[in-house]
Amino acid sequence: MACSCFPEDRPAARGGERYNFAAGPAMLPPTVLAQIQDELPNWQGSGLSVLEQPFTGAPFKDLMQQAEQDLRALLALPPNYRVLFLHGGASCQFALLPLNLLAPGQSADYLESGHWASKAIAEARRHTPLNIIASGRDNGFTALPEPGEWRLDPRAGYCHVTSNETANGLQLQHFPAIQAPLVADMTSDFLTRPLPVERFGLIYASAQKNLGVAGLCLLIVRDDLLGPPRAGLPSPFSYALQAEQQSRLCTPPTFALYCAALMLRWIGQQGGLAAMARAGRAKSQLLYRAVDASGFYHCRQRVADRSTVNVCFQLRDARLLPQFLAEAQRAGLYHLQGHGAVGGVRASLYNAMPLAGVERLLGFMHDFERRHG
Ligand code: PMP
Repeated sequence: MACSCFPEDRPAARGGERYNFAAGPAMLPPTVLAQIQDELPNWQGSGLSVLEQPFTGAPFKDLMQQAEQDLRALLALPPNYRVLFLHGGASCQFALLPLNLLAPGQSADYLESGHWASKAIAEARRHTPLNIIASGRDNGFTALPEPGEWRLDPRAGYCHVTSNETANGLQLQHFPAIQAPLVADMTSDFLTRPLPVERFGLIYASAQKNLGVAGLCLLIVRDDLLGPPRAGLPSPFSYALQAEQQSRLCTPPTFALYCAALMLRWIGQQGGLAAMARAGRAKSQLLYRAVDASGFYHCRQRVADRSTVNVCFQLRDARLLPQFLAEAQRAGLYHLQGHGAVGGVRASLYNAMPLAGVERLLGFMHDFERRHG
């Protein structure tokens, strides 16, 4: 019996182009995939795979240092920020943020902007009191509360935002300068646009969308927030202890780190964050314009808050969705189903998605509409 992971009519197997619109783990640039494949058996002439490198050896330490330097250059990161390469996903940080940044009983501010902010809030609540500064729940998370509406608590230890709501297709366009350290979950739009880094106390992002593969969480933290961890916090989860040990307090996720290093280099070669932002706007605008112009598809998200990386839309006749998704996959357009909590279609257009992928999707959408509209 054929395994459902490898359908026999998979277009790639027949030599056709394939585009992966998954929200994550996401598409990698073909040149990065090819480099991984090429040098896998013998990394940098060491005679061993990168998978077998000791993390304390000079070659791997150099790789970590180079990755950090490339990241610093891309973001123009000021020297008072530290870069940590941590295990686990952003979900682990949902719990570790209050345990690292707050004194027992101290509260934090949270913006409830969608599915992932709600997850961050639910987890943080297990460890600390918190204040919801504003919520999009009443509009079904189809629009973001304006920063002018945020009810900030002057005693908050930090203020947490989700820069891009992956499931809901909403993205913060601006980051206000506020008094409390601004902490951002940037898992889905990290390195897709230039950032005013100095407005943030801490930024974190799982790697599997714009920065390679799963298993690594990248964290950027301002020096002064690396205080003593709460009593009882296991050492590998302490930002301060990990910073002291250059993210080598325990074995870091070496393969994911190697992939992140390749992605950082690739982003630089493409022209850096300004180029990523230009490409992201071009790809997403093409899709939003087509959806808005059509009576067959529609997008519920408020125009000003729409995400450049997760374009979410619906088919007006929802009964056609399973057929849309199945035909798309046969055409080499993979993983277009919306998040389970939201439904519909979601096209994730991370850095590695070329404009040609969006054009192929548009061609398919027009054809599907012509046949079913
Ligand atoms: N935050 C956001 C915005 C996300 O999109 C995701 C994953 N889709 C997460 C957090 C959770 O990441 P992980 O599964 O790596 O913990």
